[in-house]
Amino acid sequence: MTPMKKSYLIDMDGVIYRENHLIAGAAEFVEAMEMTGTPFLFLTNNSAPTAEDLAIKLNHLGIPGLGPRHFYTSAMNTADFLAETHPNCTVYVIGEGGLLAALHEKKIYSDAINPSYVVVGEGTATTEKLTKAHEFIERGARLVATNPDNWCPVSADKTRPGAGAMAAFLEASTGRRAYYLGKPNAYMFYRARLRLVENSHVKLDQAVMIGDTMDTDIRGAVEIGMEAYLVMTGSTRLEEVGDYVYQPTRILQSVADLTTEIKSGQPSDRLNSPVFAHTSVSRNKAGNRHQTDVYSLHRPRPRPAMTK
Ligand SMILES: [Mg+2]
Repeated sequence: MTPMKKSYLIDMDGVIYRENHLIAGAAEFVEAMEMTGTPFLFLTNNSAPTAEDLAIKLNHLGIPGLGPRHFYTSAMNTADFLAETHPNCTVYVIGEGGLLAALHEKKIYSDAINPSYVVVGEGTATTEKLTKAHEFIERGARLVATNPDNWCPVSADKTRPGAGAMAAFLEASTGRRAYYLGKPNAYMFYRARLRLVENSHVKLDQAVMIGDTMDTDIRGAVEIGMEAYLVMTGSTRLEEVGDYVYQPTRILQSVADLTTEIKSGQPSDRLNSPVFAHTSVSRNKAGNRHQTDVYSLHRPRPRPAMTK
């Protein structure tokens, strides 16, 4: 049998690590991909770090040997989007180093007088910055957010406000809708797949998305026509999967389930188990997980999440 030639887009938080701890088997999974020359790219909605920062983080957690080319963030996605749709535009940024670096790399520069866009990312916003952003939007600047996450986990029992919440503030004050990049926006998956092709010369239809969150990782992959593998090591519990209209191609206990088949090249059907059963709803946290959830086809389900 010819070996599988799949390539992987892989979410990080809840898939590779949780709260600065590597998930069991994740290091062996990455090692198997490297050993077999399987193309892969890590995908995150966190727009605060640079790709270099993320390589250092994974090195500290126990996955060495990765470089910036192995990572694609919602900040890079936002920079790609602006560079493609509006070259030479200027921006007023509320965000962190990863976002500023990504924009700068695409020659999109900061403008505190007459910016074409207000770009909101992860990080701390001051009232002064929000007020300026509000004024720019009222004067015609377009509002863009790196990702729709309303909140992000800090630890098991602590969250912080995310880019979606910050954008919602400006949506409320200006009456304008923000445009959200990052997962589940198809543009995130489109550009990530292009990057995978550039990195490794694989065919587009061979890419698989692996993630732990239904309404970002799985939804986005399904909508762009990719295979989507859901892992049970993060924000989604098995009994919640049936609540969603869209379903993952496969459900895995963890990425460790893929290690053997990546090494052997033989796909396993042991874990093919889309779940359609409706069961109880978890009530750990109220409200929409993402600012784009108001548009979802399914009823928003309050539940814990581990996606950064
Ligand atoms: Mg995640």
